[in-house]
Amino acid sequence: MPAAKAYSAPSQTSPLQPTTIDRREPKENDVAIEILFCGVCHSDLHYARNEWSDVMETVYPCVPGHEIIGRVTGVGSNVSKFSEGDLVGVGCLVNSDGDCPNCSEGLQQFCPNMVLTYGSPDEHLGGVTYGGYSDSIVVDQEFVLRVPDNLDPAAAAPLLCAGITTYSPLRHWGVGPGKKVGVVGLGGLGHMAVKFAHAMGADVVVFTTSPGKTEDALRLGAGEVVVSRNADEMAKHFGTFDFILDAVSAEHDINPYVMLLKRDGNLTLVGAPEKPLPVAAFPLLFGRRSLSGSLIGGIPETQEMLDFCGEHGITADVEVIPIDKINDAYERMLKSDVKYRFSIDMSSLKSE
Ligand code: NAP
Ligand code: ZN
Repeated sequence: MPAAKAYSAPSQTSPLQPTTIDRREPKENDVAIEILFCGVCHSDLHYARNEWSDVMETVYPCVPGHEIIGRVTGVGSNVSKFSEGDLVGVGCLVNSDGDCPNCSEGLQQFCPNMVLTYGSPDEHLGGVTYGGYSDSIVVDQEFVLRVPDNLDPAAAAPLLCAGITTYSPLRHWGVGPGKKVGVVGLGGLGHMAVKFAHAMGADVVVFTTSPGKTEDALRLGAGEVVVSRNADEMAKHFGTFDFILDAVSAEHDINPYVMLLKRDGNLTLVGAPEKPLPVAAFPLLFGRRSLSGSLIGGIPETQEMLDFCGEHGITADVEVIPIDKINDAYERMLKSDVKYRFSIDMSSLKSE
């Protein structure tokens, strides 16, 4: 069994620390990957600290990481799509049943039997799957993505979760020229949403609690920035938005955003705060507004998003860190102090 270096959280309250894990021997459909970079998603923090225990209990030790970019180091005998040396990505999913109605439509993220990159039962090795805070991984070829060569690998890593999670609802809700789109929360997901909505031709307004992010928001593609704690600034936009994407990681009031939607406008949540968010009925009733959610994206759409990024030269704005800075990175993420995604340089694991 090949061993891999990794960082894991041993419990809900302990910091992440160096460890060694097993990876399976590549089977006939598998791709073995040397991980070069892994993005740091707020979901990694929620999961490592068991903040989603109402929905899924974290299994310890846990190795987070689902924004993986790496080089193929070997392929199984049935693998036709990849060969040694290819630059590839792995996102939040590493398998699914392949024959449910969702999988048949390429919506593997809704498969009842999907296997998450970390924290799902591991049918090969027992225990649970281990994610990308590691120097290698072995993944079925159907869940490996091609990464356009013109993209910087460190900055492309976040596309595998932050990228697809924002691209998918923007496409689903028909964002494009002539549409007024709001993005709530300028973090890892939010800043990708701004880049995509702008590239799709929409007019983008960013809602932030951090006035210091205003200039960045404009540079990323927003036409206007609203500091959401200012009720007067919010009120100016009443009833004007076609679509708003909420990418906030913590408890906050979503009702003021519903009021900003036009008739038939939609507010989609991608943020996954640990506690339920209260929703008032009347702002939804008046104007037939809707509230929905969205979960990452399927494999075909993830490839479409990566190709779109290749064509438009889109990647994340990253701060590259060595892996021994991961615990500091989590604390900074909690303070909304990330510009705009941490990307772990996995070569730093060699000295651990
Ligand atoms: P992040 O980088 O930490 O960004 C979150 C942003 O939310 C912050 O930068 C901040 O933006 C805003 N924020 C934080 N605390 C707030 C508060 N108390 N009130 C209002 N705004 C606040 O996180 P991320 O990695 O982008 O992830 C965002 C959320 O999406 C997380 O809950 C994550 O688990 C979830 N997620 C969901 C999916 C999915 O498939 N649906 C996929 C990935 C992640 P400002 O400074 O601009 O206010
Ligand atoms: Zn994520």
